Amino acid sequence: MTSLIDADEAGFFGDHGGRFVPPHLETPIAEVAAAYAEARQDPQFQAEYEALLADYVGRPSPLFLAEGLTRHLGGARIYLKREDLNHTGAHKINHCLGEGLLAKRMGKKKLIAETGAGQHGVALATAAALLGLECEIHMGSIDIAKQRPNVVRMELLGAKVVSVESGGRCLKDAVDSAFSVFASDYHDTFFAIGSVVGPHPYPSMIRDFQSIVGREARGQILAKEGRLPDVLVASVGGGSNALGLFTAFLEDESVRIFGVEPGGKDLDVVGEHAATMTLGTPGTLHGMRTLVLQDTDGETWPVHSIASGLDYPAVGPQHAFLKDVGRAEYVSVSDAETLEAFQLLCRTEGIIPALESSHALAHAARLAPTMGADEIIVVNLSGRGDKDIDYVAEKLGR
Ligand SMILES: *Cc1c(COP(=O)(O)O)cnc(C)c1O
Repeated sequence: MTSLIDADEAGFFGDHGGRFVPPHLETPIAEVAAAYAEARQDPQFQAEYEALLADYVGRPSPLFLAEGLTRHLGGARIYLKREDLNHTGAHKINHCLGEGLLAKRMGKKKLIAETGAGQHGVALATAAALLGLECEIHMGSIDIAKQRPNVVRMELLGAKVVSVESGGRCLKDAVDSAFSVFASDYHDTFFAIGSVVGPHPYPSMIRDFQSIVGREARGQILAKEGRLPDVLVASVGGGSNALGLFTAFLEDESVRIFGVEPGGKDLDVVGEHAATMTLGTPGTLHGMRTLVLQDTDGETWPVHSIASGLDYPAVGPQHAFLKDVGRAEYVSVSDAETLEAFQLLCRTEGIIPALESSHALAHAARLAPTMGADEIIVVNLSGRGDKDIDYVAEKLGR
């Protein structure tokens, strides 16, 4: 049987993954793979990484019993893994510090990346400032308009923000743009992908850097409840916060695992959702084979989500694999359900969640009432929602 966790030598999880890059990128990406394979085994690298997670990010993040939310929904007890409390307000700092440390180890001077909601850009600019690296962030112009405060943050942190005007002017186009600049300047540059996507080794590497989330959560729930949770729920854009939580539980068969993707406004209309796991077909995008929202001729669909961190027309290959083998289940929730869940957490717990994380909350809110009071759900609260309040106010007509 193949492992649920580790890719094979070529970076495949079952039928998905691999490294599909143009010949001139084969060497630079293979260099990253070789450097990471060494760093992964190096206790000094790991110790340096863990020290930053503790003293800079503020880990471990709490596992919080949401009593108000639990009471309101009636049913299973809901715990929140508080990645929103990390420095910079989301889980992404976990992998950005890992990538920054690896870039330094490889002697690179500059980090380059794409960003959607701006969360990866802010987290990477933060890591770059901390580690003394230059930083260049590519961002779709629609996202720039929607996420102005994050653009200001990146610039304050010393990053150069490049506005991408091609295609749908969102995350996918920013990835293309960042890749093409990297291709022309890889000697001094490290390409810091923002999720468990892209060519091997990125899906495995980003997952490893995020897996601290689930290792902590496992220890915390065992300490608090003396047993494993019944259900895990996390939002899935590329899938890094989800795999961060899931990895430590993949081999625990009693734990049901749900990834929640953006159903947007209408699942039946192309361009009105980003439900890759539900409606995607096998294809190749951004250096990996995975499920892709695409036409029969391979043209990727435009995507939409109320949460711009989730509007990506593909998904990390390990998620496609976990779906194939039936280890994880993938569902979608709509923009409207997401807004409800966002407001519900604000009122019941005094926590303003990111719209991305509100997708996971919305599914937990569906599940909890169908479960017993002796059952446990752990939700990955991947980020805080301060970045979203202007957009939410507009949606609510305030
Ligand atoms: C970016 C982001 C996501 C989606 O990215 P994944 O790689 O799927 O985790 C989810 N939540 C927050 C808060 C984000 O910033």
